[in-house]
Amino acid sequence: MPNPPFSAPPLPRRAVIREMGLRDGLQSVATIVPTAAKLEWLRDAYDAGQREIEVGSFVPPKLLPQLADTAEVLAFAQTLPGLRATVLVPNMKGAQRAMDANAASMLLPLSASHAHSLANLRKAPDDVVAEIAQIRAERDARGSRTQIEVGMSTAFGCTIQGRVDADEVVRLVQAVLDAGVDCVGLADTVGYADPAMVSSLFEKVLRVAGDRLNCAHFHDTRGLGLANCYAALQMGITRFDASIGGIGGCPHAPGASGNVATEDIAYMLHSMGVATGQDFDQLLALRGKVGKWLAGEQLHGNVWRAGLPKTMKEQYA
Ligand code: ZN
Repeated sequence: MPNPPFSAPPLPRRAVIREMGLRDGLQSVATIVPTAAKLEWLRDAYDAGQREIEVGSFVPPKLLPQLADTAEVLAFAQTLPGLRATVLVPNMKGAQRAMDANAASMLLPLSASHAHSLANLRKAPDDVVAEIAQIRAERDARGSRTQIEVGMSTAFGCTIQGRVDADEVVRLVQAVLDAGVDCVGLADTVGYADPAMVSSLFEKVLRVAGDRLNCAHFHDTRGLGLANCYAALQMGITRFDASIGGIGGCPHAPGASGNVATEDIAYMLHSMGVATGQDFDQLLALRGKVGKWLAGEQLHGNVWRAGLPKTMKEQYA
């Protein structure tokens, strides 16, 4: 089906790249990075200009030993001025820990795919929505300022269920907005999206969510990660999840490569004149360190191989 006609607005002047390597990235690799290295990672990411970072996940340490030190990593992130730290929380218990720790933002995953939701959270999507409403009520009762963000995963399709209807994504976005969340993002957890699907689905969701739809989360499983980011950028989205070295994946998506690589999307946006505040050389230096901390694990991305084009080096010198 062709997409409805759409006239692209001018590209935004600024965009935010949220670093996901410390959670989305690390949760899908076997290596456990020591806490001291994570703090060095955070410090370097901050020095490279990153101001939104997902620092971990409040899940039981037994499930994800890689992220067992999330509270400590979050506490360090909170010492870096102007850094907005996000933690992933799968349920009320995790949300309470995030609010106890005064996290700036908690990211709640909600699968648009019924089958993925059961596999990942052992709950149907509407039961997750009901828990999200309880989390909002808990926040109100506490007077907490922790923002509630929903990441709508498998929004473009699912390795277990296959097709995911756009109407179902729209319905669930409306449901979580009604439940009182602050903002939502659309995630292609398994690398099924293409730019035309991105334009079409973001347009549909923007109709119900307006600027509360403010994040795009793409994996580069089939090489379309950056193209999908560009499609979302053209729809006016200015916040992109990415991970240094493209680390990450999904336990339910065999063969998945990771998130869009931070350094690649930073390069693309800068090349198009969209400011991100991130320093390439420092990002590449951090990528080198992450490669050492994750020795034996596969890193992804492209820009690191050849570095910046000569023209851009002159432009940003
Ligand atoms: Zn992801």
